Amino acid sequence: MTDTDCILASRHLLGIEGLTREELLLFLDNADNFSEVMTREIKKVPALRGKTVINLFLEPSTRTRSSFEIAAKILSADTINISGSESSTSKGETLLDTAHTLEAMNPDLLIIRHKESGAPHLLAKHLKRTVVVNAGDGTHEHPTQALLDCMTIRQHLRIKGRGLSGIKVAIVGDVRHSRVARSNLYAHLLLGNEVTLVGPETLVPQDFLGPKAFGGKGKISIARNLQDGVKGADVVICLRMQLERQAGNYVPNLEEYSREFGVSERVLKAHAPDSVVLHPGPANRGIEVSSEVLDGPRSLFRMQVHNGVATRMAVLFLLATHKDSTHKELAAA
Ligand code: ASP
Repeated sequence: MTDTDCILASRHLLGIEGLTREELLLFLDNADNFSEVMTREIKKVPALRGKTVINLFLEPSTRTRSSFEIAAKILSADTINISGSESSTSKGETLLDTAHTLEAMNPDLLIIRHKESGAPHLLAKHLKRTVVVNAGDGTHEHPTQALLDCMTIRQHLRIKGRGLSGIKVAIVGDVRHSRVARSNLYAHLLLGNEVTLVGPETLVPQDFLGPKAFGGKGKISIARNLQDGVKGADVVICLRMQLERQAGNYVPNLEEYSREFGVSERVLKAHAPDSVVLHPGPANRGIEVSSEVLDGPRSLFRMQVHNGVATRMAVLFLLATHKDSTHKELAAA
């Protein structure tokens, strides 16, 4: 869709880590272009006709799974969805056996969500022909969420006459367990943005600043209270409390947590009056964010969901066509 000299180095999309800034922007530019297709009366283009996309979702999902499916359908790909309870993994089959079984049916792309960090990487290592897309692996990465978040932020900044680089981003809440936080961190560090992680030590461990961690890569800081953390922020990303991943007691109680770190209009008005707010969903209203903020004028919550489709169209299209060109090169060699 976009004329560019940038070629993706990997045939898979496993994370934002390892992407170049050019690759990140390639996804975003293509997503912008594809969003026009969604405004048409007949939302269908033949870009992926004859391609098969399998959605293998072994963890719950509303937004990610349906938007991958809608994106594939708009691009005219054939799609099938397999969820945890329907797959043979629930009968004890290993993930690799399931993946090899699916590959034997010649799909082009396999979108995988899994509770174990690294599951998509394992498949990418073992599958020979299928392109693997990470739709969220454990506490590790959720690359398409970060892409759609960046697309949404960029749209907002364009209206203000600003670019996506050189902004201040606050990521608030359960950073420790959040794959959304990690993918967004990688993206904003690539874009040259300043990131503040906001939360108590239990949810935002100090080692995020270590030289081998994110702190070694760009402008990143930690704030232990909400007021300081969001001060002057252009963008505030609220994270869901990942209760299903919290084995211990990370906060004394949710009420107390929300009093200290729940993103409210009162705090934003005082400390980040021009900020916009994102939340990856599903939101725990009244815990990590108030309904007033989530439903208010600074919220980009619904826009994120909307942009999720165009983002996933871009990802499917770029990876499927990249795969074709790689195959042609191999055949000609
Ligand atoms: N939907 C996002 C994810 O799958 C965020 C969340 O669940 O909190 O990671």
